[in-house]
Amino acid sequence: MKNETKILLHIVREKRIRRKDLEAIISVTPSTMTYLLDKLKNFIDIEEEVPTLGKPPQFLSISKNAWKILAVSVGREKIRAVLYNAKGEELESFEHRVKKEDLSNDGINNVLQQSIDKFYDYDSIGIAFSGTIHDEIVDSKILSLRDYDPVRSLRLKSLGVPYIIISDVEAIAAYESKKTGKDKVFVLNYGTGIGACYYEYHALFSRDEFKNIPFGHMYAGGNEQCYCGNVGCLETVASDYVIVKKFYDKNLNFIDFINREEEYWKILKVVRNLHKTDEANARELYKEVIEHLAMTLGNTSVLLGINEITLYGEGASKWLAEQLEEKINSLAKNFSISVKYGNTLDAVERGVSLEAAINLIKKKITK
Ligand SMILES: [Zn+2]
Repeated sequence: MKNETKILLHIVREKRIRRKDLEAIISVTPSTMTYLLDKLKNFIDIEEEVPTLGKPPQFLSISKNAWKILAVSVGREKIRAVLYNAKGEELESFEHRVKKEDLSNDGINNVLQQSIDKFYDYDSIGIAFSGTIHDEIVDSKILSLRDYDPVRSLRLKSLGVPYIIISDVEAIAAYESKKTGKDKVFVLNYGTGIGACYYEYHALFSRDEFKNIPFGHMYAGGNEQCYCGNVGCLETVASDYVIVKKFYDKNLNFIDFINREEEYWKILKVVRNLHKTDEANARELYKEVIEHLAMTLGNTSVLLGINEITLYGEGASKWLAEQLEEKINSLAKNFSISVKYGNTLDAVERGVSLEAAINLIKKKITK
């Protein structure tokens, strides 16, 4: 990796870094650093702190106008496109409420195209989908996308800027890793679906690693059929669906529920907020769900060597995070986990913009 790339990537991660520290990390002399910073002068701000004695320390940060990023999140409720400057400040945004008739490859492609077309001046684009991504091809049960190819369908190559396609949970993990400064991050996306992403930041030595975990389809027992074809998936015993079933309709089955999810939105809202008005009842309803999640999460923490989990998603709440933390740690001596509730509303947009900036630095600016 070129030194210029390392410098920019490091400042993006740290936001503000002392020049001396960066020289040590990249192992260059002060004079080489002067030369490199001059090459990057359109991208980096250098501030001097008020001197106490001798030479004032210099701090480096990315300048506001270094680049503009278009970040788009595509979820079941809305498509949101945000234009950020290089300091991560929101310049403009556009939102489209996703309707039932939008749910198909063509439908999503149309509204996504319209959303992107509202913007014309940016240096890099990133799109995050609620779904799974393999080689830039998107599959999503909740968006009714099958083998959707955004690169071809949106003609992203013709935009003339670098692009990235990731999943929403990857975007959240990237955002959490930067925000907390942690090198290992585990995000659980909880709702009617259960997804997870494990993100490992490898500093400047290799590429960052995302590992999407099909958490909802890990085996958890029971005899209920899942839409994926398996029986006994975690989603059939531990997703929001289970709560709706217990609370509202004992005869409900998972596949029907997923196919007619919109009909249950009101009930979902009620059960997700039940802990605020009737905590005892909520505890009872969530008991089984929490037990299943706690065991799977505890085992996963041992497997990955993590001590913190961030809970996101429509079914998540501070209350659920607290219940899970308590339960996990009571199960086994080698489970020692803190469960945080991630309530940053634009975490997906922020995370995908971060990945799009990294892509821009690697593919264009310092190529
Ligand atoms: Zn399944």
